Amino acid sequence: EGRIVFDDVVFAYDSKRPILQGVSFTAEPGATIAIVGPSGAGKSTISRLMFRFYEPQAGRVTIDGQDISAVTQRSLREAIGMVPQDTVLFNDSIAYNIRYGRWDASMEEVREAARLAQIDSFIRSLPDGYEAQVGERGLKLSGGEKQRVAIARTILKAPPLLILDEATSALDSFTEHEIQEALARVSRGRTTLVIAHRLSTVVDADEILFLDRGRIVERGAHLQLLEKN
Ligand code: ADP
Ligand code: ADP
Repeated sequence: EGRIVFDDVVFAYDSKRPILQGVSFTAEPGATIAIVGPSGAGKSTISRLMFRFYEPQAGRVTIDGQDISAVTQRSLREAIGMVPQDTVLFNDSIAYNIRYGRWDASMEEVREAARLAQIDSFIRSLPDGYEAQVGERGLKLSGGEKQRVAIARTILKAPPLLILDEATSALDSFTEHEIQEALARVSRGRTTLVIAHRLSTVVDADEILFLDRGRIVERGAHLQLLEKN
């Protein structure tokens, strides 16, 4: 289970300009599909439709054969883990931020998730460790650190479907590499849509879709595309 199908999806935010112009793809259970394309191509719009922030004007999106127009936004949020590009954390402890949505998780599980997100040793180096407060009057975490807290949260939540907004342009290359490793761990075994700006960041995808002005203009496996471009 965990098959995502976009079937000839047409979408416009307003009547002026179509944004998605008949987008079709299938993400098989456990597969990683990368959506690559220039800024403004419609990549984030695809993730917004998955959460039903907006409804397509034509075509449909299904998860395991069910049209998501019949699924509540709440169920979609539960089923789909999202690691956004700009993570906003709660002004609370690091443990709270990791455990958010999985209140039954033990401290052991929280630590294991932080370890997989490659942030455990950093957290343990803080004076208050997992109880350190995040936010205005507490810790100022870097973008990469915040993103890894979000990754730890997603690992703990273990949703069947994942959307990774992989744009890591604001991060230095060391952090970027660490984050990609952490993201690769979360996506293992789960149906994953990776939104990326550059082909170089999506080595592990089973299929890459090139989106340009709302159309998939090319698709294939990584090596195939590298040879062409
Ligand atoms: P990408 O993620 O590929 O950069 P987006 O899906 O964010 O692209 O946006 C696709 C196009 O839709 C862009 O031209 C953007 O300006 C436009 N757009 C995004 N959000 C809205 C909105 N709420 N209202 C109108 N246009 C929007
Ligand atoms: P962007 O265009 O910056 O890639 P979106 O416009 O799709 O991102 O979403 C805006 C922000 O809303 C994201 O950065 C993310 O923090 C948040 N967001 C979107 N979907 C979810 C979700 N299902 N759960 C939690 N946060 C979400």
